Amino acid sequence: MTTTDAAPTDTAAAATFDSLSPATGEVVGTHPIHDDAHVAQVVAVARKESERWRALSFDGRKKALVKWRKVIASRMEELADVMSKETGKPAGDALLEVALAVDHLAWAASHAEKVLKRRSVSPGLLMVNQAASVEYRPLGVVGVIGPWNYPVFTPMGSIAYALAAGNTVVFKPSEYTPGVGEWLANSFQEAVGRPVFQVVTGYGATGAALTAAGVDKVAFTGSTATGKKVMAACAETLTPVVIEAGGKDALLVADDADVAEAADAALWGACSNAGQTCAGVERVYVHERVYDEFLTELVAKAEQLKAEPGGQVGPITMPSQIDIIRRHVDDALARGGRALVGGPVPEGARFVQPTVLVDVPEDSAAVQEETFGPTVTVSKVRSMDEAIERANGTRYALGSTVFSKSQGMEIAERLRAGMTAINGVISFAGIPTLPFGGVGDSGFGRIHGPDGLREFTYPHAIARQRFKPAMALTTFRRTAKEEAQLTKVVRGLYGRGQK
Ligand code: NDP
Repeated sequence: MTTTDAAPTDTAAAATFDSLSPATGEVVGTHPIHDDAHVAQVVAVARKESERWRALSFDGRKKALVKWRKVIASRMEELADVMSKETGKPAGDALLEVALAVDHLAWAASHAEKVLKRRSVSPGLLMVNQAASVEYRPLGVVGVIGPWNYPVFTPMGSIAYALAAGNTVVFKPSEYTPGVGEWLANSFQEAVGRPVFQVVTGYGATGAALTAAGVDKVAFTGSTATGKKVMAACAETLTPVVIEAGGKDALLVADDADVAEAADAALWGACSNAGQTCAGVERVYVHERVYDEFLTELVAKAEQLKAEPGGQVGPITMPSQIDIIRRHVDDALARGGRALVGGPVPEGARFVQPTVLVDVPEDSAAVQEETFGPTVTVSKVRSMDEAIERANGTRYALGSTVFSKSQGMEIAERLRAGMTAINGVISFAGIPTLPFGGVGDSGFGRIHGPDGLREFTYPHAIARQRFKPAMALTTFRRTAKEEAQLTKVVRGLYGRGQK
């Protein structure tokens, strides 16, 4: 690597910030606050490197990404440990997150060629003299702005797919998980030795600098409010964006469901990662015939679960989130709701106990707004039609879950959501072939799967004339006779019949 190719060093970055343990408040690491000039420099290096990376071809990129995959897989406990320290999530959960991220990296690396390489498409009857083909080309440099809740799995859904598609990437991790971002970039450097994937750290302003640094696409994961700001900034330069924002996902339980399994899934979906999951379960709608049985199961299981140091439910990663969770619980209780497990969140708490709320009005914050804590509302419904209507009744539409032995597909097909798990929970996120993303306030664009690869490309179409057309239509030499022939052909093809 020559010096001009090298990633800029941090010597110019005077200011630093600390990453803190949410469980204890202790300093976990200190990182540079990268300013606009540094971010621009990093993007310039990425721009230069993108020509080389693109020229490597699918096979060369696959080899490089396989090297990276091996480094992560061989040191996954180390990455899980950094993640656990920065987010407070239990070590086992952190390990599972790394495992799923590696699986996505492997899939993206090995399927990019098949999904994106040039392929022939039908030219259609009117253009039968043409050979038509399309390929998906890399955009150049992709800026990835990541969240803290799944600081490896979520950004990897953009990073791996953007790299496999032939882009270089500059990643700005959340200010709560800069160490995870740096670990990923360092491991890439160790495996590949080129500035194909780089990281910049800092607060929101560093993310804003990335959106303004001339990248070719921004992949953002975080709140809907910040997603709007990112989109507004990108509008200035017509930079495309993919927005993975929040959710208010519902789990629906039909009267023929395996109620014990549904209760287990509801609890895990609501409380794993301390409820800080964009596609976590926040609302449950249960058919009246199995409501009491479901609630008994859920309460019994939830009472066993404790949020505590070393427990299955960790602390709330972002301190300001505790105020939001407290507001939602207090509002639900003030408006006639009851907490069957848990209750008001004490001042000064770092951990929020699993909380099951019932009788909560449908228009309250706990049912309509993203809580992002280990809480869940449970409502009784007279029919699955009512469950579907209420599940579809928020401005978010990310994931969803259905428990039913016979009506799973039928109910899933009527849910307004980007993804649905039937008789499982969040299962769609672990399947690399399925697209992940939402509609409405949950955002747009897709990560994962073939759609996730194409998200970081632009299609290039080629029409190649194979032989002279029977009717010369795209020329000033076109005659009235040919126009009459065209009319006749189109009427013959499309003017009658059922097809
Ligand atoms: P934000 O949406 O504020 O932050 C997400 C990312 O964007 C972070 O890396 C952040 O950097 C960065 N950022 C902040 N401001 C800007 C900006 N103007 N331009 C570019 N990048 C910016 O989320 P929070 O972390 O504050 O969480 C708030 C809420 O978002 C949560 O309560 C939760 O409801 C939701 N959320 C949803 C997630 C999901 O998976 N969909 C993930 C995380 C949060 P920095 O952290 O340094 O400020």
